[in-house]
Amino acid sequence: AKQLYERGKPHLNIGTMGHVDHGKTTLTAAITKVLADRGPTVAVPFEGIDRSPEERDRGITINVAHVQYETETRHYAHIDMPGHADYVKNMITGAAQIDGAVLVVSALDGPMPQTREHVVLARQVGVRHIVVALNKADAVTDPELLDLVELEMRDLLSAYGYPGDEVPIVRVSGLRALDGDPYWSARIGDLLDAIDAYVPVPERVLDRPFLMPVENVLTITGRGTVVTGVVAQGRIDLLDRVEVVGLTDGVLTSTVTGLETFGRAMDHAEAGDNTAMLLRGVQRADVRRGQVITIPGAIRPHLRFRARVRVLTAAEGGRSKPFLHGYRPQFHFRTTDVVGTVDLGGEGAMALPGDTLDLTVDLGKPVAMAEGLGFAIREGGRTVGAGTVTTLLP
Ligand code: GDP
Ligand code: MG
Repeated sequence: AKQLYERGKPHLNIGTMGHVDHGKTTLTAAITKVLADRGPTVAVPFEGIDRSPEERDRGITINVAHVQYETETRHYAHIDMPGHADYVKNMITGAAQIDGAVLVVSALDGPMPQTREHVVLARQVGVRHIVVALNKADAVTDPELLDLVELEMRDLLSAYGYPGDEVPIVRVSGLRALDGDPYWSARIGDLLDAIDAYVPVPERVLDRPFLMPVENVLTITGRGTVVTGVVAQGRIDLLDRVEVVGLTDGVLTSTVTGLETFGRAMDHAEAGDNTAMLLRGVQRADVRRGQVITIPGAIRPHLRFRARVRVLTAAEGGRSKPFLHGYRPQFHFRTTDVVGTVDLGGEGAMALPGDTLDLTVDLGKPVAMAEGLGFAIREGGRTVGAGTVTTLLP
């Protein structure tokens, strides 16, 4: 039988963000290497991090989080989000579910447009705590340059509602630590200490109905269909009834017949858990990324809603021109995106970059939603705005 998952150290979900090439993947690999030298963590090489989720033999587990590691006090699942143009899509998926972010900024370049964009989005999707890794510190000979970039980062974080003066900024070299350099390995230790100390164990929402956004779906031969994701709220026990909601008008009902996390069996899953869930009698084609798993009746699919939206400026990665009444971008919710039409109240109305405004959206497909759900508005690889559902409309 499978080994049981033991709830020992608190579990946190964390992720790297920041401009492309600033060293997110190198840093992720370096963290696992430094921790592998100290304890039970398994080192994951650079090449091992960007791979897509894969099925493990005979278990129902897939690689739900790309990397996991343990410090002395905590267990972390770490998502290294890719740093290219459609980063944001992953960010909405991943960051919406992370408890803290490691913002990687190259000391050679300082903050770049994607650095800013990720801070805006992190704020929007509710990432409360950011720790900055001032990376490539090995390549900077002038210490004043490091001080300058640090100041810029504090200003930038403060500008978007983070406590810029308090945020830990740790000077690191992912590359040199990965090479085994003792000085730079110790700096990775400092970064991990800062994360342990600064990112609190989040209060998991256990008193609300169970909800898990579906990230992936796979078939385990002989056992059935498995969905994976991070539990957003509540708790589910083996043999509980669940519903699959969203992207279709109807709702599918099933029973949970298996639960796993990181290859270990669980008798229940709760908020914050990276979970693989086996669903009885469900065909693979019946369930899709972007739907949610809930207890019966907890949430319904909706097509129309009111929202409060902040329109991003060009400096934040957004448009330089306004958008108009009738605009049809993509709306990114949790793990999916759906096209929708914006109602600004009538012909001639427009939304300018930098505006915060209320608008109505008509989606092309229903999304499982409740008031307070965050989303991003995207168009042609660009993030146009970030919003929150304020009212569900019939
Ligand atoms: P990502 O796009 O943010 O994931 O960046 P990568 O981890 O792929 O790194 C981009 C480039 O920067 C690679 O050539 C790395 O070798 C280099 N790099 C990453 N970290 C460091 C560092 O700490 N110091 C130096 N000098 N180069 C680094
Ligand atoms: Mg990378």
